[in-house]
Amino acid sequence: MQKQIQDTIRDKHLGFADVQVGESGVLREKAQSHCLKNAHRTFEQGIQCVQVNSMNALVSLQDTVMIIHSPLGCSGCAAFGAIDRLNVYKHHRGRDDAPESHVISSALGEKEVILGGEKRLQETIEKAVERYNPKIVFILSSCAAAIIGDDIDAVAERMEKKYRKFEGRDILFAPVHCEGFKSRNHATGYDLALATLQNYVIRDARPPKQKGLINLFATHSLSWADQQEMKRMLNAIGLEANILPYNATYEDIMKIPAAEYNISVCQIFGDEYIKFLNEKYGIPYAVTNMPIGTRSTNRWLRAIAKLAGKEKEAEDFIASESAAVRDEIERIKKKTDGLRACLTAGTGRGFAAATLIGDYGMKLLCMHTPYYDEAYIDDFKRLEELHGSEFLVNIADMQPYEQVNLLKKFKPDVFIGMSNWVSRLGIPSLHILDSKRPTFGYRGVLYLGRKIEDALDNNNFNKNLSQFSKNAYREEWYKKDAFSYLQMPEDAL
Ligand code: SF4
Repeated sequence: MQKQIQDTIRDKHLGFADVQVGESGVLREKAQSHCLKNAHRTFEQGIQCVQVNSMNALVSLQDTVMIIHSPLGCSGCAAFGAIDRLNVYKHHRGRDDAPESHVISSALGEKEVILGGEKRLQETIEKAVERYNPKIVFILSSCAAAIIGDDIDAVAERMEKKYRKFEGRDILFAPVHCEGFKSRNHATGYDLALATLQNYVIRDARPPKQKGLINLFATHSLSWADQQEMKRMLNAIGLEANILPYNATYEDIMKIPAAEYNISVCQIFGDEYIKFLNEKYGIPYAVTNMPIGTRSTNRWLRAIAKLAGKEKEAEDFIASESAAVRDEIERIKKKTDGLRACLTAGTGRGFAAATLIGDYGMKLLCMHTPYYDEAYIDDFKRLEELHGSEFLVNIADMQPYEQVNLLKKFKPDVFIGMSNWVSRLGIPSLHILDSKRPTFGYRGVLYLGRKIEDALDNNNFNKNLSQFSKNAYREEWYKKDAFSYLQMPEDAL
């Protein structure tokens, strides 16, 4: 089959770095002059696998089966991440009885790794199809499958021929080449998933245009409450949102080319795909920030309004929503104004959450974020206007050992991010990558503000943890520089 989108990897973006540290202003100036080089970690804890994000992007699609062609371990994240998140999502939308997701591992073993695993994959697919009769079967590659050279495209083609008109309908087989070693930027997994939807599901379909329809490409971290808030905001300016791919149906996917506009939930999700849709179908798009915090929400909505010629509607809505949240923000701000905050989040979520910190009058001390590339220069500039250019930026995909060390030294008043280890330091903390509760839009601003307030009002749980639980690392580690294992490019010369 002729692929319409070829696989791309984000590591090739201009100025890409996933290992760096420095003051925001210093890193930005280097990036602006194309001189920001990647450093090297001589010790690294695990980074997130590309396959996990391909799985996250596709696992909730209705009437599908996902085959992970790998040893068993690669599908471990399906259980604790994707399926758990989806079950909560179903509960929130009042549909506990909605069909389960089917994630099946081909469970490659020693024999397959030596003799090839295509037969095993084919048998797994056949059993899955006969048991569930889905509309789409996604076949996800893995490091092991790619290293031994299993041809998942050929298996998909064979299966498509075999299951033509199976129990009255055609089944689509969609391979995703998301082996973990493909990229150090796990957002590549999203790009590969969206490319698969185009190449193997939409293919060359050209449905008629639907007036006012806007595709909203969103990560799996969009909770049910956030979906409702996004729809509410888009409805307010006269647009109907087709939210993808989370929990979408086959029909929703096939509507993608029918939309008048494309927007993504942040600057690193779906941006590659919406550029493709612009080239192929002429659909205009905007790449903007995630709508967390009033500043970022206003900016997000204005970008869409400009695209759709709905500026007046957007300004009216922004004025009334801002007025509705103002008093509560001011009340919370009395407790938060002037506090120092540290933040850990994915790149798009991190930029937006840093503006939320500004909404509540707090100062950003440091930000851990997985990637830097030249496309983010303007985002860092905007943060510097709000927080000054001295806040520390640690480019790290995970690496909690660096983060905990640094936070113990910084002793911020509040930590926002995945707080598991930080809580043990006794620092008031809250989660921002929730995917189960409201964080977006004007409703999210208040929800997160109240969470910050709660964390400050009653920090007893974290205090107790700091007193009665073991620290994550030995005392010697905290005495060392947090970046002891970073080899800067100039040191490597
Ligand atoms: S695909 Fe590769 S990197 Fe990803 S979980 Fe499997 S072995 Fe690990």
